[in-house]
Amino acid sequence: SIVVTGATGALGRLVIEELLKRTAPDEIVSVARDRAKAAGLAARGIGVEIADYSRPETLQGAFASGDRVLFISGNEAGRRLTQHRAVIDAAREAGVALLAYTSVLGGPSATFSIAEEHVATEQALLASGVPYCLLRNGWYHENYTGTLAATLRTGAVVGSAGEGRVATAARRDYAEAAAVVLTGSGHENTVYELSGDTAWTMAEYAAEVSRQTGRQIPYRDLPQERYVALMVEAGVPALGAQMVADADAGIARGELAATPGELSGLLGRPTTPLAEAITEALKELP
Ligand code: NDP
Repeated sequence: SIVVTGATGALGRLVIEELLKRTAPDEIVSVARDRAKAAGLAARGIGVEIADYSRPETLQGAFASGDRVLFISGNEAGRRLTQHRAVIDAAREAGVALLAYTSVLGGPSATFSIAEEHVATEQALLASGVPYCLLRNGWYHENYTGTLAATLRTGAVVGSAGEGRVATAARRDYAEAAAVVLTGSGHENTVYELSGDTAWTMAEYAAEVSRQTGRQIPYRDLPQERYVALMVEAGVPALGAQMVADADAGIARGELAATPGELSGLLGRPTTPLAEAITEALKELP
């Protein structure tokens, strides 16, 4: 089977959609920790396995010999390495044919804190001997367009990325690339540096938002601590806010700017332009 962990998350849902364009529902197994959340997948004829990365015993039946697995990284910062090791162990014991992991663009050359657990997971996966594929995903457009409502309310884009460039692509682009790998061949023991075709600065993003809204929306660059405080005031948990601001420092250093074209290469088309993602997000606003 083709197996997708984190199947009820934002990326996982899109991967399932892309898989359904390429293969039958009964070829697909979704791994989720919440059965109710996976009910829609089951209703469409997709297999459902209930497992929690934090409870290794639940991972035992999740995979079968010969499976091609997309392992979507967890979202509980600080707990992920232990969780991810459990997933890798279960996949190894089952004898899966491929374990594709959603890592971070640049792998070990990414030095911001979010990258640490990804890099350690990559090392664990390589050491496991399981046939791997590292999908080193860059940032999503949605990391920015997801807060457009707040941007328009406050009249400014804020961050601490300075003049650094970030090569974002649509979450759907990364999902489609994962589906291509899962349904294709020859991806064993490979590393893909996946990113958008174009790297942009925050000022350029603000200029495009201004152009599309007809308003003057500047980019306001903040010292890291000030940006953290602003996010916390807006309700973001402190640890998450620190990680976002720290990743912005990584962007300022150029660590998420690479544009090797490997994502568009896998897709066989250009990545979704940022301007298009802004247009879509503006349509969604009330
Ligand atoms: P989501 O937060 O929407 O999805 C995370 C998925 O992981 C969910 O399905 C969640 O399950 C599942 N998960 C988390 N913890 C566990 C656990 N203990 N056991 C089983 N499943 C678990 O994020 P996205 O789908 O947007 O992104 C996928 C991953 O990529 C993120 O988890 C994160 O590691 C990373 N990421 C990358 C970004 C980028 O810009 N490249 C931005 C944000 C995240 P459930 O549905 O039950 O919650």
